Amino acid sequence: MTDLRTVVSEIAQEMAGRSERGTVAHYIPELACVDPARFGIAVMLADGTQIAAGDCDEPFSIQSVSKVFTLTLALGKVGDGLWRSVGREPSGNAFNSIVQLEQEQGRPRNPFINAGALVVTDTILSGHQPREALGEILRFLHFITGDDGIGIDEAVAASEKQTGYRNAALANYMKSFGVLDNPVAHVLGVYFHHCAIAMSCRQLASATRYLAFLGRNPDTGHSVISVERARRINALMLTCGHYDGSGEFAFRVGLPGKSGVGGGIIAVVPGIASVAVWSPGLDPVGNSRLGTEALEMLARRMHWSVFG
Ligand code: GLU
Repeated sequence: MTDLRTVVSEIAQEMAGRSERGTVAHYIPELACVDPARFGIAVMLADGTQIAAGDCDEPFSIQSVSKVFTLTLALGKVGDGLWRSVGREPSGNAFNSIVQLEQEQGRPRNPFINAGALVVTDTILSGHQPREALGEILRFLHFITGDDGIGIDEAVAASEKQTGYRNAALANYMKSFGVLDNPVAHVLGVYFHHCAIAMSCRQLASATRYLAFLGRNPDTGHSVISVERARRINALMLTCGHYDGSGEFAFRVGLPGKSGVGGGIIAVVPGIASVAVWSPGLDPVGNSRLGTEALEMLARRMHWSVFG
């Protein structure tokens, strides 16, 4: 079998030499300061071995990757009732688009576009103060990684709050349809803060494990979520995890994955591994350019695919 260590180190070497790296997200000013030359990768296997390279220990802004963890929490809280207020179809639109909301009476297409993620955040928030809801999200990450050091980059959260006009528009618009239960300011506050969670590739690969191993931590055998729920979250990552680039990602990489505008991507190789990559330069759709390429190389060379 192809040696995973060799493949991971060759990918990191190759990516270090690339000059075309995409463009860092500018609409959140704090993210515009990130060095586009960074690249990290971490692969975590069933036995807990981590094979990592590049800037794999450097925390970065996980942004929309956090939506996988908030979706997991919201489903744990209200179960399938969540699907009354958010759909499960790819949007075919930009991540922050508002147009479909009008045609579809404020019910977002899926939990990974911004509008859908705001509904998920609203669900977690119900019955709590914003601080408690954030505490719950962080506690979940600490629990699944065994790492209490994971926290929020307050500068990124403040930066997004200052410029988050689109998200404020989406939240207000949905509120007008009665889709959000909590005050718009609370929903936005919790959303901006969970997007501003900082994690390294190693931490993210570890956090993604339960999705690669039937909802369980393969070390302890403890269940995080049911098998069915893990499968469904993976299905949503495959169909909706890369916004309007989801079809392209499935075509090129062939694994469930979720990207964020901080340049991180998590991916799941069912029964084999969880993976996290980071390269801050984005393609025009908002997905990490080199991160996608790295995952494509990894999947091809390891013969990893959910399509056989
Ligand atoms: N916090 C970002 C926003 O709401 C997340 C977008 C992303 O990572 O794709 O615009």
